[in-house]
Amino acid sequence: MATITDLEVRDVRFPTSLEKDGSDAMNPDPDYSAAYVILRTDIPGGVEGHGLTFTIGRGTEVVVAAVHALRPLVVGQRVEAFTEAPGAFWKHLTGDSQLRWIGPEKGVIHLATAAVVNALWDLWAKLERKPLWKLLCGMTPAQIVETVDWRYLSDALTPAEALAMLERLAPTRAAREAEVRASGYPAYTTSAGWLGYSDEKIRRLCREALAEGWTSFKVKVGADLEDDRRRCSIVREEIGPGRALMIDANQRWDVGQAIDWVKSLASLKPLWIEEPTSPDDVLGHAAIARALAPLGIGVATGEHCQNRVVFKQLLQAGAISYCQIDSCRLGGVNEVVAVLLLAAKFGIPVCPHAGGVGLCEYVQHESIFDFICVSGSREGRMIEYVDHLHGHFLDPCVVRGGRYQVPTAPGTSITMRPQSLSDYTHPTGKVWKERPS
Ligand SMILES: [Mg+2]
Repeated sequence: MATITDLEVRDVRFPTSLEKDGSDAMNPDPDYSAAYVILRTDIPGGVEGHGLTFTIGRGTEVVVAAVHALRPLVVGQRVEAFTEAPGAFWKHLTGDSQLRWIGPEKGVIHLATAAVVNALWDLWAKLERKPLWKLLCGMTPAQIVETVDWRYLSDALTPAEALAMLERLAPTRAAREAEVRASGYPAYTTSAGWLGYSDEKIRRLCREALAEGWTSFKVKVGADLEDDRRRCSIVREEIGPGRALMIDANQRWDVGQAIDWVKSLASLKPLWIEEPTSPDDVLGHAAIARALAPLGIGVATGEHCQNRVVFKQLLQAGAISYCQIDSCRLGGVNEVVAVLLLAAKFGIPVCPHAGGVGLCEYVQHESIFDFICVSGSREGRMIEYVDHLHGHFLDPCVVRGGRYQVPTAPGTSITMRPQSLSDYTHPTGKVWKERPS
């Protein structure tokens, strides 16, 4: 028997806005940040669970405060209370009657939930000495079904249906594991697509990416139509007609404007338009999807989709062609599993949101699990990749030739280097103390 004895949370911020890395139509100056949780235990050897939720600077202190509010639900709990029934523990964390008032599975409290839940999974995976994907793939279909909070889902997917889906694929898991170990998981790059980059920088980054073997490229759009046309044309010119170009508006438009804007970029043959409008507007996304379908352009969204219920509606309404889970916007691994199952039921490929800090590290585990146990396919699926800030992690993701390589170290790949944690802690770390204000 082991007990969670302490929960520490840090406000960690990287001054990425200096380089315009990550700039898009709605977020011109992100400082990639995280509310970073460390769970301590009384297990001999000092095994800790680390988890984070991604933020972009100001407001991280609010998420940190929300993590503190969750602390009494975690500290003092037996580790086995989580590992023996992760779904029941998730309900315990999200079901506090008073905390639930400030955000029933959404908003800041849900971001905080993600950091804590992901830290619990990290702890468990480290105890099992397995990478997260392998821990998940070692679970029986019934155990996987138990991880999910099924409340609000049964009109779209029942636990019995999910069990049957998982059981159908269970006998062939080993073959897919061998396949993904050998050939990795497909990825796309956003490196050349940020709004703040010069034309020369876009061309140079495209050429570098092509030389590295990338076949799918994403570009930020939505601030200025002529600028979008110019930058997308540069990328299309560099990558040729055969490779995939995706565009991402980061919620910039109203519904009608989204349709018109994307139609006027249609000659550049984008595969999808990402986040065309408000992440809460299910029917708006459905209208955009209907208008763009004849042009062969799909709608993708999810990085700001607040929970499994909104994903359910997007899928039910035929509003998305690509489901973009976010490992920290959803309430951690448990709710990601719920959305992977929903997407598989509706036959929609999951192409996770990544980049930021730590998101690539997280979602690689979730997509590999999706392939081996849930969807059984890599067809039409790819994980976002951005080459930012990976060096701060002890076990960073490895991407070669445009493909994620299967992680092998125990845990969720999210443990940050102690030096990075201390240097970038806001506002007391060395990096922030030295910055002119
Ligand atoms: Mg995006």
